[in-house]
Formats: sequence, C-alpha cells, structure tokens
Amino acid sequence: MNIILLGPPGAGKGTQAARMETARGMVQLSTGDMLRESVAQATPVGLKAKAVMAAGELVSDAIVSALIGERLDASDRGAIFDGFPRTRAQAEALDLLLTERGRALDHVIELEVDEDALVERITGRFSCCSCGAPYHDKYKLPRDPDTCDICGAHDFKRRPDDKEETVRTRLAEYRAKTAPILPYYEQRGLVRRVDGMAAVDEVTAQIDAILDS
Ligand code: ADP
Ligand code: AMP
Repeated sequence: MNIILLGPPGAGKGTQAARMETARGMVQLSTGDMLRESVAQATPVGLKAKAVMAAGELVSDAIVSALIGERLDASDRGAIFDGFPRTRAQAEALDLLLTERGRALDHVIELEVDEDALVERITGRFSCCSCGAPYHDKYKLPRDPDTCDICGAHDFKRRPDDKEETVRTRLAEYRAKTAPILPYYEQRGLVRRVDGMAAVDEVTAQIDAILDS
C-alpha cells in the first residue's frame, strides 16, 4: 500500500507516519527529513536547500522528486509520503515515479486542522536526537522529562525553521501551492479526510479505519 499524508506544517503527518511505520512495516518518506539530512551533511543538495528551508519557502520540484525516486528504488515496502508532493508538478512527478516502478497510490489522507492551532503546535515541537521520536511542550511530553520514551536517549532538538515568523511563511506556501493539488486527487476518488484536531490516538484510529477498510 502507498499513501500520501497531506496537510499543512504541524498537522501531525510525521507523528502519524512514525506510528504507521511501527504498526504496519511501511516506510516513511519525508522530504523534509531527507533535506535536513542533506543540509547536515553539506551535500550539494543540502547547500542549495539550506537558505530556502530557513526562509520557509519550497525547495525546487526537481530536487525533491529526485530524492523520492532514490528512496523508492531503495525499498519496495509500502510508502507513506510525508511532506511530498507539495506542488502540482511534484504530484505529477510522483505519478510517473510510481508508474515506472509498477506501483500505485492507494489513498491520499488529508489531515484537516484549524490553522490557528498550528503555530502553537509547531513552536512547541521537539524530537529525540537519537531516534527522532516526536514530542510537544504541551501535548506530548516524555514521561521522564529528560529521557526519550522510545529509546532512552537524553538529548532533544528543535528545528531552526519552527520559529513563528517562518511558520507563517510555511503556512502561506501550503495554502498557495499545496492545498490546490487536492482536486488532482479528488477527481480520482483517492482523497480521505481525518480530523487532525482530535487527540493523537484518535487520529491514528481514524487512519487505521481507512487503511483497514
Ligand atoms: P507535521 O509532520 O505535519 O509537520 P508533526 O507530526 O511534527 O507535524 O506534529 C507537530 C507537533 O504537533 C508535534 O510536536 C506533535 O507532537 C504535535 N501533534 C501531532 N499530532 C497532534 C495531535 N493530534 N494533537 C496535538 N498535538 C499533536
Ligand atoms: P517539513 O519537514 O515537511 O516541514 O519540511 C521542511 C522544509 O523543507 C519546508 O519548509 C521546505 O523548505 C522543504 N521541503 C520539504 N519537503 C518539500 C517538498 N516536497 N517540496 C519543496 N520543499 C520541501
């Protein structure tokens, strides 16, 4: 099964994708994570992407589509696309990448959220430096404040682009370039909606109901 998790920054895509990886043996393909890794390693892609990401704008379609193609070649496990596609050109590129590999999309799951809540969600976000487990200052603290619930590590990190002014640009990019791709999938009957404002477990239950139907 191959699915897209679609929703604005902070909608909960990464949180739900991590759960689906564990529960279903699927693989999370997050272009944001891939780009952050490229920036950390100062690869040619990372050098091109760094300032664009810091400004909250979109990296070029060619770069992110190539990253996804490489990951699809590396694994034939069911894919959870997280943060990709973000433009109509990326949606078309994804169709081609899947078709070339004899694969297809099963669902596009839109996480519907109230935009006012997103700034708080994103500015409160942090994650484990070791395993990447996602946390939140208000909604999901580790059981022991200094220890990751999942792997027991003690270091946590925050993203440099999770500042309020950058978040506003990222939300504007979503509205202008990503939300308009929904009709592309709606006309193929692929879009399913879940309430992204519900508690994390409830969102997972709604996604499970779609995937198990
Ligand atoms: P995205 O990958 O869509 O940008 P994340 O999964 O990183 O979003 O979630 C953003 C922040 O909101 C994280 O700190 C996460 O712990 C928190 N979060 C995710 N889902 C929910 C939810 N349903 N209710 C409250 N907080 C949530
Ligand atoms: P994310 O981790 O999905 O919130 O993405 C963080 C940043 O990486 C975005 O604000 C963009 O600058 C860049 N990015 C991630 N995925 C894409 C994509 N599919 N297309 C263009 N830029 C992307």
